[in-house]
Amino acid sequence: MHYAPPIDDWSAPFHAALERGELLYPACTACRHALPYGARCCPTCGGTAIAWRRSGGLARLCARVVYRRSFAAAFPAPYAVAQVQLSEGPRLPVRCPLELAANTGDTVRLDVRDGAVIAMPLTDGDTHAAA
Ligand SMILES: [Zn+2]
Repeated sequence: MHYAPPIDDWSAPFHAALERGELLYPACTACRHALPYGARCCPTCGGTAIAWRRSGGLARLCARVVYRRSFAAAFPAPYAVAQVQLSEGPRLPVRCPLELAANTGDTVRLDVRDGAVIAMPLTDGDTHAAA
């Protein structure tokens, strides 16, 4: 089942990119500071113009949780959610396998499948450049 989040003018480019299999993050056009998802202005310079940049797809695993009870039909239990920090800086909640072979603090690869971002363990083919 595909979950369709509310999409507005601000978030439309992010969701359109997910449908193409790409992960974008917002950045300030004035000072290039990477912004958290949903930010309407830059905490560094106060600028309100943002540009969407393509993420390299690597992130640090900050936390994860397995839900054993369903709270929405689109998310049948059990399912897992992770909080990750993109190597570019912003944090993002993402899906992950129930048995993710990674620990908090590890670098994970972010795949985009069916419009969702999924944290996966690194493979030998991945770059280990994420912070
Ligand atoms: Zn700025």
